Amino acid sequence: MRSKTIKDSYRYAVLGLGGLGSAACYWLSRTTGEDVLGIEQFELGHVRGESQDHSRIIRLTYHTPSYIRFAQQAYQAWAETESEGGEQVVLKTGELNFWPPNTTLDETAYLESLTACDVPFDALDADEIHRRFPEFRFDDNVRAIYQPDGGLVAANEANRMHQRLALEYGAALIDNMPVDRIDQINDGYMISAGGMIFHAEKLVIAGGPWTNKLLSHFDVEIPLLVTHEQVTYVANENLSDFMPDRFPVWIWMIRDNFYGFPVYGAPGTKIAKDRFHPIDPDHRSFKADAENEAQVMKFLRDHIPRAVGRKLYSKTCLLTHTPDDDFVLDRIPGHPNCVCIVGAAHAFKFASVIGKTVGELLVGGTASADISAFRFDRPGLKDPVTWQLPNG
Ligand SMILES: Cc1cc2nc3c(=O)[nH]c(=O)nc-3n(C[C@H](O)[C@H](O)[C@H](O)COP(=O)(O)OP(=O)(O)OC[C@H]3O[C@@H](n4cnc5c(N)ncnc54)[C@H](O)[C@@H]3O)c2cc1C
Repeated sequence: MRSKTIKDSYRYAVLGLGGLGSAACYWLSRTTGEDVLGIEQFELGHVRGESQDHSRIIRLTYHTPSYIRFAQQAYQAWAETESEGGEQVVLKTGELNFWPPNTTLDETAYLESLTACDVPFDALDADEIHRRFPEFRFDDNVRAIYQPDGGLVAANEANRMHQRLALEYGAALIDNMPVDRIDQINDGYMISAGGMIFHAEKLVIAGGPWTNKLLSHFDVEIPLLVTHEQVTYVANENLSDFMPDRFPVWIWMIRDNFYGFPVYGAPGTKIAKDRFHPIDPDHRSFKADAENEAQVMKFLRDHIPRAVGRKLYSKTCLLTHTPDDDFVLDRIPGHPNCVCIVGAAHAFKFASVIGKTVGELLVGGTASADISAFRFDRPGLKDPVTWQLPNG
């Protein structure tokens, strides 16, 4: 329980307080104060979902102009929240996208979208990569895009900041309280959670890997795949060369990508490779996969050799995918007062603007951002699904 007073009736209830739900609570309570209830099944800041770690990448490099514009709005919303919260959670380190010749991703779409949105970037050949970023070693056929606004969001701190500000505005946040039933009643919804009953006029479903369990109360299901991922922190003897002011966040641009961070939150760099290992979120292990650890250590040895050292630890995490990799940010069909948000495996950087948009949809009715790609009725969510899982 994180609030002094709990009422039994609210105008807005946010179900799930990970990165996206916490942001929604903040933006809703900023407008409507104590009319907001947030409910979380585990303790706030728990490590069973998608949003907890020292860092998540934030970047403008995207494959469509609309994603780039949404990312620009995310930076603005983060800045507004930082200024209100008195904390910095976005750290610009610069961002490098490396393009190997065998990639199946469309480099041209990224370059054209950046250009269309007037985002500054440098296209680097192998010589320039080595000259400007000497820690990286690649063959001559690898190219890079460098974008100086890229960096990291301090995820744990950002979640805490959203929750703290929501509480300061008068929102009630309750943790360790699983929502087990939602019933539509005349003027809203009845939420049964942990033996208590709450009433809310408008709902936000922000359940991350558990989204379909919450949506089942609306007789709605969307094609989602939850996978078991991990990140690995690795110490080295050259830490000063890997600090955020000298070493950028980076992504190896293939479908099951490698990506990495400077030293932040732990005495080593962070590296990861997507696993795409399907899992039931209620029956998962927290054990790290040794093969994935070996793959990331090999990548470091081959391409960032001075970052190689003792493994500090690996941290496992769940990831929720949509078939077309686009978010869900829309009203639930047949329920104009309920908004569902799903992160599609790359949403932390957008938590600020997603939270803000939820507030706009539920309080004012209209979103200022273009969220047409995130609709429930788009073909990518309705057509038969073929999951593109590189590793099965
Ligand atoms: C390893 C990894 C790396 C990533 N890297 C990046 C990155 O670099 N950049 C980026 O932008 N994004 C990244 N992402 C994706 C991003 O972290 C997620 O998209 C985002 O955190 C999703 O947040 P969420 O709030 O939807 O989910 P969650 O954080 O999982 O929150 C959902 C919450 O709902 C709660 N809940 C569910 N059901 C109930 C219920 N019945 N009652 C009460 N509470 C309930 C859960 O307990 C949980 O706390 C990464 C994710 C992972 C795992």
